[in-house]
Parts: sequence; structure tokens; C-alpha cells
Amino acid sequence: MTAQLIDGNALATRTRAQVAERVQVLRSRGVLPGLAVILVGDDPASAVYVRHKVADCESVGMRSVLERYPATMTEADLLARVRALNADDAVHGILVQMPLPRHIDPQQVITTISPAKDVDGFHVANAGALLVGRPGFKACTPYGCMKLIETTGVPLRGKHAVVIGRSNTVGKPMALMLLQSNATVTICHSGTPDLAVHTRSADIVVAAVGRRDTVRADMVKPGAIVVDVGMNRNDAGKLCGDVDFAGVREVAGWITPVPGGVGPMTRAMLLVNTLEAAERRTD
Ligand code: NAP
Repeated sequence: MTAQLIDGNALATRTRAQVAERVQVLRSRGVLPGLAVILVGDDPASAVYVRHKVADCESVGMRSVLERYPATMTEADLLARVRALNADDAVHGILVQMPLPRHIDPQQVITTISPAKDVDGFHVANAGALLVGRPGFKACTPYGCMKLIETTGVPLRGKHAVVIGRSNTVGKPMALMLLQSNATVTICHSGTPDLAVHTRSADIVVAAVGRRDTVRADMVKPGAIVVDVGMNRNDAGKLCGDVDFAGVREVAGWITPVPGGVGPMTRAMLLVNTLEAAERRTD
């Protein structure tokens, strides 16, 4: 069996087009959705990410403001900036790019962002809303993964989903979203003795580890949906995921590529969340 490719670029393009239409509706009512992005320090990868986020906003007709600060910025100054953006009516979404310099506590920053503007979905109020099944902002990466899985048309009720990784930003919210869709969910992590025992019985595998070749062909049930969140480099320096793509695509039913899978959908879901922040405020 050769797996069908789940095309994240194509889905992200469709998602952006839908966002752009809804942005026009808001603009016709005099509301310009706006995202504020804060970058502290000069991490080159973070600089690329924030540039993409700003460009994405502009591509759908939203306003975006990028604020760059030196790595020496104090935590108190950053929190003051976040509070000012909380109070700014022209700003609907606030994103502070991680990682932050060591002297700044990321949790303190995240909890200072107003939950109504927390378009990353990292605030405990939004994470808690997901836990108890209430509306809130969902973390962009797992939210994007759910949209990718939806394109397969496979109903999740009663399916066994295995999430590898338990970070607060990917693994845990991913597991909760799958649970909310009535899958039976197993969460694996670095303390899981035999990963393959779990993945071999999984109808859906989501790999969010950050180590290439974590999921190999002999670990996957024939016909399974495999979503690869990982972002790693192979020996040739090329971007690759956590899944041995060449091997697993011969066994799985559906698979996301890296690049061109989860990455574009993470970016697209940030736009969805920012738009929804503006829509909620307007409504
Ligand atoms: P993270 O915070 O480092 O979490 C990694 C998780 O993997 C941890 O829960 C860890 O377990 C688990 N793990 C480590 N080794 C393992 C093993 N051998 N077997 C099973 N589980 C293992 O990373 P993250 O932020 O969740 O990100 C995961 C990957 O996704 C990274 O490559 C990251 O770059 C990528 N990512 C991609 C996107 C995108 O848009 N494409 C977005 C976010 C993240 P413990 O908890 O026990 O340590």
C-alpha cells in the first residue's frame, strides 16, 4: 500500500482563502483584525518564524505589528508591553515568540496575555477550556493537525489514536482534541518503554517528539493515518520529521509530509485564531 499524501500546503491555501473572505466581512463592518507579534532577542529561526507570521497576516488582509526587542529586555518591561497590548483595541491577537531569553519566565509572560487575545492558545484559561470542553483558543499546531486528519474523511469515534510527545504546546492539547473527537487516546513519552507496542495498534499516530526516525514502517498498522509534527534535520541538512517517510508511506493509509504538512497548517491556524478573536470581540 502506498499512503495518500495529506497536503498541508493545499489545505493551508484553502484555509487562508476562507480567512481572507471573513476578514473582508469584518472590514466592511469597520473592523480590521490585528495581530501583535513580539520577538525578544536575535534567535535566527525565531526571526524567520515571526516574519512568516507577519507576512501571512498581510496576505489575508489583516493588520500585523512586529515589535522587536533586544535580548537584554527585562521581564518587567516585556510584561508591561504585553499589558499595553492587552489594553489596545486595535490589537485582537498577541503572540510572544518562544523561546525567550533565559532570564524571562515564559509562563509568566503567557499568563499575562489576555486569554481573549491569546491566539497561540497557550494561556491556562485556554488550555483549561480545551480540557473541560469549553470554547477557547486552541493551540495552533494540534488544531492544524486535527484539520489535516479531517481531510481523510475517517470518522474518529472509536478509533485508537497514539500521540507521541506530551508537551503543553503540542502533545497534550493534541491528545485532548482527539479525545474530544471520541478517539481512544494513548499518550507516549520518553518514559514509554516500548513505543511500537502502542503505535502498532493505532489507527492514528501523531508524532511530536523532535527526533527523526522515531516512527518506522514496522511500527505502523497498515492503513493508519500518520501525522508528522517533528521538525529535524537529516544528515544532508534537509528538513525532516519524526517519521521515516519513505518507509512508513508504504504501510500507512495517509501521511503528512515534512515539509508541506503540519508546518503550513500551524501558520494557517494562527490566522484563524486571530480572525476569531476579532469576530468574538465584534460580536
Ligand atoms: P518538546 O517540548 O521537546 O516535547 C517532545 C516530547 O517528545 C516530550 O514529551 C518527550 O517526552 C517526548 N519524547 C522524547 N523522546 C522520546 C522518545 N524516545 N519516545 C517517545 N517520546 C519521546 O517538543 P514539542 O515542542 O512538543 O515539539 C515536538 C516536535 O515538533 C519538535 O521537532 C518541534 O520542532 C516540532 N514542532 C513543529 C511544529 C510545526 O509547526 N511543524 C510546531 C511545534 C513543534 P518527555 O515529556 O518525557 O520528555
